[in-house]
Amino acid sequence: MDGVGNQVAHGAEAQALNVVMLGPPGAGKGTQAQRLASGHGLPKISTGDILREAVQAGTEMGLAARVTMEAGNLIGDDVMIGIVTERLDRPDARVGFVLDGFPRTVVQAAALDGMVDGRGPLVVLDIVVPEDVLVRRLATRRICSKCGVNAVVEWTGNCQACGGTLVARIDDGVEIVRERLKVFLRQTKPLVDYYSTRSTFRSIDGNQPPDVVTAKIKSALDEAARSATL
Ligand code: AMP
Repeated sequence: MDGVGNQVAHGAEAQALNVVMLGPPGAGKGTQAQRLASGHGLPKISTGDILREAVQAGTEMGLAARVTMEAGNLIGDDVMIGIVTERLDRPDARVGFVLDGFPRTVVQAAALDGMVDGRGPLVVLDIVVPEDVLVRRLATRRICSKCGVNAVVEWTGNCQACGGTLVARIDDGVEIVRERLKVFLRQTKPLVDYYSTRSTFRSIDGNQPPDVVTAKIKSALDEAARSATL
Protein backbone atom coordinates (compact mmCIF):
# COMPACT_ATOMS: atom_id res chain seq x y z
CA MET A 1 0.00 0.00 0.00
CA ASP A 2 1.22 3.45 -0.84
CA GLY A 3 0.27 5.44 2.28
CA VAL A 4 0.02 9.19 1.79
CA GLY A 5 -0.71 10.51 5.29
CA ASN A 6 1.78 12.81 6.92
CA GLN A 7 2.28 12.47 10.66
CA VAL A 8 5.86 13.66 10.60
CA ALA A 9 6.12 16.57 13.01
CA HIS A 10 8.74 18.34 10.95
CA GLY A 11 7.20 19.18 7.61
CA ALA A 12 10.16 21.05 6.13
CA GLU A 13 11.85 19.31 3.22
CA ALA A 14 15.26 19.73 4.80
CA GLN A 15 14.17 17.53 7.75
CA ALA A 16 12.40 14.86 5.74
CA LEU A 17 12.84 11.23 6.79
CA ASN A 18 14.30 9.53 3.73
CA VAL A 19 14.87 5.81 4.22
CA VAL A 20 16.35 3.11 1.99
CA MET A 21 15.84 -0.55 2.92
CA LEU A 22 18.73 -2.62 1.59
CA GLY A 23 18.98 -6.39 1.70
CA PRO A 24 18.50 -9.55 -0.37
CA PRO A 25 15.16 -10.85 -1.64
CA GLY A 26 13.29 -12.39 1.29
CA ALA A 27 15.08 -10.32 3.96
CA GLY A 28 11.75 -8.80 5.05
CA LYS A 29 12.31 -5.38 3.47
CA GLY A 30 8.70 -5.12 2.24
CA THR A 31 7.14 -5.96 5.60
CA GLN A 32 9.47 -3.70 7.55
CA ALA A 33 9.19 -0.87 5.01
CA GLN A 34 5.41 -1.04 5.30
CA ARG A 35 5.51 -0.86 9.12
CA LEU A 36 8.00 1.99 9.10
CA ALA A 37 6.06 3.92 6.48
CA SER A 38 2.70 3.63 8.23
CA GLY A 39 4.28 4.44 11.61
CA HIS A 40 5.71 7.69 10.25
CA GLY A 41 2.98 8.62 7.77
CA LEU A 42 5.35 8.26 4.84
CA PRO A 43 4.81 6.65 1.45
CA LYS A 44 6.31 3.20 1.07
CA ILE A 45 7.75 3.03 -2.41
CA SER A 46 8.40 -0.51 -3.61
CA THR A 47 9.81 -0.67 -7.13
CA GLY A 48 8.91 -4.39 -7.30
CA ASP A 49 5.26 -3.55 -6.48
CA ILE A 50 5.24 -0.74 -9.06
CA LEU A 51 6.57 -3.13 -11.72
CA ARG A 52 4.16 -5.95 -10.77
CA GLU A 53 1.22 -3.52 -10.93
CA ALA A 54 2.40 -2.47 -14.41
CA VAL A 55 2.63 -6.15 -15.44
CA GLN A 56 -0.92 -6.79 -14.15
CA ALA A 57 -2.25 -3.68 -15.87
CA GLY A 58 -0.58 -4.77 -19.13
CA THR A 59 1.08 -1.39 -19.72
CA GLU A 60 3.90 -1.11 -22.26
CA MET A 61 6.44 -0.87 -19.44
CA GLY A 62 4.88 -3.87 -17.66
CA LEU A 63 4.94 -6.01 -20.79
CA ALA A 64 8.58 -5.12 -21.41
CA ALA A 65 9.56 -5.81 -17.77
CA ARG A 66 7.78 -9.13 -17.36
CA VAL A 67 10.29 -11.50 -19.01
CA THR A 68 13.23 -9.89 -17.20
CA MET A 69 11.47 -10.11 -13.84
CA GLU A 70 10.41 -13.71 -14.33
CA ALA A 71 14.00 -14.65 -15.17
CA GLY A 72 15.17 -13.05 -11.91
CA ASN A 73 17.20 -10.34 -13.64
CA LEU A 74 17.21 -6.59 -13.11
CA ILE A 75 15.32 -4.04 -15.17
CA GLY A 76 17.59 -1.40 -16.78
CA ASP A 77 18.87 1.44 -14.63
CA ASP A 78 17.39 4.17 -16.86
CA VAL A 79 13.85 2.78 -16.57
CA MET A 80 14.13 2.33 -12.81
CA ILE A 81 15.67 5.77 -12.24
CA GLY A 82 12.86 7.29 -14.34
CA ILE A 83 10.18 5.52 -12.26
CA VAL A 84 11.67 6.58 -8.92
CA THR A 85 12.41 10.17 -10.01
CA GLU A 86 8.77 10.58 -11.01
CA ARG A 87 7.53 8.96 -7.78
CA LEU A 88 9.73 11.06 -5.47
CA ASP A 89 8.53 14.20 -7.22
CA ARG A 90 4.98 13.61 -6.02
CA PRO A 91 3.85 15.83 -3.11
CA ASP A 92 3.41 12.98 -0.59
CA ALA A 93 7.14 12.17 -0.81
CA ARG A 94 8.24 15.68 0.19
CA VAL A 95 8.15 14.80 3.89
CA GLY A 96 10.17 11.67 3.17
CA PHE A 97 9.73 8.11 1.98
CA VAL A 98 10.66 4.51 2.61
CA LEU A 99 12.22 2.91 -0.45
CA ASP A 100 11.98 -0.87 -0.81
CA GLY A 101 13.87 -2.50 -3.70
CA PHE A 102 15.62 0.64 -4.93
CA PRO A 103 18.50 1.27 -5.38
CA ARG A 104 19.74 -2.13 -6.58
CA THR A 105 22.87 -1.01 -8.43
CA VAL A 106 25.58 1.55 -7.79
CA VAL A 107 24.31 3.56 -10.78
CA GLN A 108 20.84 3.72 -9.17
CA ALA A 109 22.37 4.68 -5.80
CA ALA A 110 24.30 7.56 -7.37
CA ALA A 111 21.11 8.73 -9.12
CA LEU A 112 19.22 8.57 -5.81
CA ASP A 113 21.83 10.77 -4.15
CA GLY A 114 21.10 13.34 -6.85
CA MET A 115 17.32 13.04 -6.34
CA VAL A 116 17.50 13.61 -2.56
CA ASP A 117 20.10 16.35 -2.72
CA GLY A 118 18.73 19.18 -0.55
CA ARG A 119 15.89 17.02 0.81
CA GLY A 120 17.50 15.91 4.08
CA PRO A 121 19.73 12.93 4.93
CA LEU A 122 19.28 9.46 3.50
CA VAL A 123 19.11 6.77 6.19
CA VAL A 124 20.20 3.37 4.84
CA LEU A 125 19.11 0.22 6.71
CA ASP A 126 20.79 -2.97 5.54
CA ILE A 127 18.82 -6.08 6.58
CA VAL A 128 21.10 -9.10 6.81
CA VAL A 129 19.74 -12.68 6.58
CA PRO A 130 21.63 -15.95 5.81
CA GLU A 131 21.03 -17.43 2.33
CA ASP A 132 19.43 -20.73 3.45
CA VAL A 133 16.84 -18.79 5.48
CA LEU A 134 16.06 -16.58 2.46
CA VAL A 135 15.41 -19.56 0.18
CA ARG A 136 13.07 -21.08 2.77
CA ARG A 137 11.20 -17.80 3.32
CA LEU A 138 10.74 -17.12 -0.39
CA ALA A 139 9.21 -20.56 -0.92
CA THR A 140 6.26 -19.54 1.30
CA ARG A 141 5.90 -15.90 0.24
CA ARG A 142 2.70 -14.71 -1.47
CA ILE A 143 1.55 -11.83 -3.69
CA CYS A 144 -1.89 -10.67 -4.81
CA SER A 145 -3.03 -12.34 -8.05
CA LYS A 146 -5.18 -9.30 -8.88
CA CYS A 147 -3.09 -6.16 -8.16
CA GLY A 148 0.35 -7.79 -7.88
CA VAL A 149 1.21 -6.27 -4.50
CA ASN A 150 3.59 -8.17 -2.20
CA ALA A 151 1.67 -9.68 0.75
CA VAL A 152 3.08 -8.75 4.15
CA VAL A 153 3.20 -11.21 7.05
CA GLU A 154 0.10 -9.75 8.72
CA TRP A 155 -2.10 -10.71 5.74
CA THR A 156 -3.65 -14.05 6.57
CA GLY A 157 -6.61 -13.99 4.15
CA ASN A 158 -6.93 -12.09 0.89
CA CYS A 159 -5.06 -9.02 -0.35
CA GLN A 160 -5.72 -6.07 1.96
CA ALA A 161 -5.19 -3.59 -0.86
CA CYS A 162 -7.81 -4.94 -3.30
CA GLY A 163 -9.28 -8.19 -1.90
CA GLY A 164 -7.62 -10.42 -4.54
CA THR A 165 -6.42 -13.97 -3.87
CA LEU A 166 -2.85 -14.39 -2.63
CA VAL A 167 -0.59 -16.64 -4.73
CA ALA A 168 3.11 -17.56 -4.95
CA ARG A 169 5.32 -15.24 -7.03
CA ILE A 170 6.56 -16.83 -10.27
CA ASP A 171 10.06 -15.55 -9.50
CA ASP A 172 10.01 -17.20 -6.04
CA GLY A 173 10.50 -20.68 -7.56
CA VAL A 174 13.73 -22.33 -6.29
CA GLU A 175 15.73 -22.00 -9.55
CA ILE A 176 14.81 -18.35 -10.10
CA VAL A 177 15.48 -17.55 -6.45
CA ARG A 178 19.04 -18.88 -6.86
CA GLU A 179 19.46 -16.59 -9.89
CA ARG A 180 18.04 -13.61 -7.97
CA LEU A 181 20.43 -14.24 -5.08
CA LYS A 182 23.35 -14.35 -7.55
CA VAL A 183 22.16 -11.08 -9.10
CA PHE A 184 21.89 -9.61 -5.59
CA LEU A 185 25.47 -10.61 -4.68
CA ARG A 186 26.85 -9.29 -7.96
CA GLN A 187 24.91 -6.04 -8.37
CA THR A 188 23.27 -5.01 -5.10
CA LYS A 189 25.69 -6.18 -2.35
CA PRO A 190 28.28 -3.60 -3.55
CA LEU A 191 25.85 -0.96 -2.26
CA VAL A 192 26.93 -1.86 1.27
CA ASP A 193 30.40 -0.55 0.40
CA TYR A 194 28.83 2.43 -1.34
CA TYR A 195 26.91 3.45 1.82
CA SER A 196 28.75 1.91 4.77
CA THR A 197 31.05 4.85 5.51
CA ARG A 198 28.09 7.21 5.97
CA SER A 199 26.99 8.07 9.51
CA THR A 200 23.38 7.27 8.52
CA PHE A 201 24.12 3.64 7.52
CA ARG A 202 22.99 0.84 9.87
CA SER A 203 23.10 -2.97 9.60
CA ILE A 204 20.20 -4.94 11.10
CA ASP A 205 20.08 -8.67 11.87
CA GLY A 206 16.99 -9.74 9.90
CA ASN A 207 17.08 -13.38 11.03
CA GLN A 208 14.76 -12.74 13.97
CA PRO A 209 10.97 -12.56 14.44
CA PRO A 210 9.45 -9.61 12.51
CA ASP A 211 8.54 -7.68 15.70
CA VAL A 212 12.10 -7.91 16.99
CA VAL A 213 13.41 -6.65 13.63
CA THR A 214 10.90 -3.78 13.76
CA ALA A 215 12.16 -2.78 17.24
CA LYS A 216 15.81 -2.95 16.08
CA ILE A 217 14.97 -0.83 13.06
CA LYS A 218 13.30 1.75 15.27
CA SER A 219 16.38 2.22 17.44
CA ALA A 220 18.73 2.13 14.45
CA LEU A 221 16.63 4.78 12.77
CA ASP A 222 16.56 7.05 15.84
CA GLU A 223 20.32 6.68 16.20
CA ALA A 224 21.01 7.29 12.50
CA ALA A 225 18.67 10.29 12.41
CA ARG A 226 20.47 11.75 15.49
CA SER A 227 23.88 11.24 13.92
CA ALA A 228 22.67 13.00 10.76
CA THR A 229 21.82 16.13 12.74
CA LEU A 230 25.11 16.24 14.71
P1 AMP B 1 11.26 -7.19 -5.68
O1 AMP B 1 9.79 -7.29 -5.45
O2 AMP B 1 11.88 -6.00 -5.06
O3 AMP B 1 11.98 -8.47 -5.35
O4 AMP B 1 11.45 -6.98 -7.26
C1 AMP B 1 10.99 -7.95 -8.18
C2 AMP B 1 11.73 -7.80 -9.50
O5 AMP B 1 11.47 -6.50 -10.04
C3 AMP B 1 13.25 -7.90 -9.40
O6 AMP B 1 13.72 -9.23 -9.40
C4 AMP B 1 13.66 -7.13 -10.66
O7 AMP B 1 13.44 -7.91 -11.83
C5 AMP B 1 12.64 -5.98 -10.68
N1 AMP B 1 13.11 -4.81 -9.91
C6 AMP B 1 12.56 -4.28 -8.79
N2 AMP B 1 13.26 -3.21 -8.37
C7 AMP B 1 14.28 -3.06 -9.24
C8 AMP B 1 15.36 -2.14 -9.34
N3 AMP B 1 15.54 -1.16 -8.44
N4 AMP B 1 16.23 -2.29 -10.38
C9 AMP B 1 16.06 -3.25 -11.30
N5 AMP B 1 15.08 -4.16 -11.26
C10 AMP B 1 14.17 -4.08 -10.24
